[in-house]
Amino acid sequence: MNNLQFKVRDIENGETVIHQVVCNATDLSLEVEEVNFIHPISGWVKFFRQNAQVYVTAQLSTEIEVECSRCLQIFETTLKARFEVQYRPTSDPEQEGWLDEDLGVRYYTGEYINITEDIYQAMMVEIPLWPICLEECKGLCQRCGHNLNLGNCNCHQLEGKSPQFAVLEELLKQTKQVTG
Ligand SMILES: [Zn+2]
Ligand SMILES: [Zn+2]
Repeated sequence: MNNLQFKVRDIENGETVIHQVVCNATDLSLEVEEVNFIHPISGWVKFFRQNAQVYVTAQLSTEIEVECSRCLQIFETTLKARFEVQYRPTSDPEQEGWLDEDLGVRYYTGEYINITEDIYQAMMVEIPLWPICLEECKGLCQRCGHNLNLGNCNCHQLEGKSPQFAVLEELLKQTKQVTG
């Protein structure tokens, strides 16, 4: 987890530094039921230091495998997260790592800032609660469980024809008789 910890004094005052970061979901204790992280989380983190305050902007992404809520197939999707937070020093050890959400300020004590929690939170909110493999996913047949993305099952034929369909069929029959 050390690569998510940065020494404030390593950042020149008044300057912007960009670091590439790579970490595993397990490094962040990012474990979500039925979500499989298939690639490390990677991206860039930009730091701007103004005396003891550090402005952090980050953009990260990873690939996950989840189950489609409609057709229950496992599929791959990209998670992209972005966050901005301002790190402010405090002498109160109880405030270490505490995030004031209204201000967008996280407090740190000592010489280091640690962005583990920021990445964790940013990723967490991007995980879909109701993942869908494709916008037009047809899901499963409620009767036989057949995956309708792979074509129709026979259930709708067994169910009998809907009245509208019967009318249409009758019309078609008549047209055929006329032309034939
Ligand atoms: Zn689906
Ligand atoms: Zn069916």
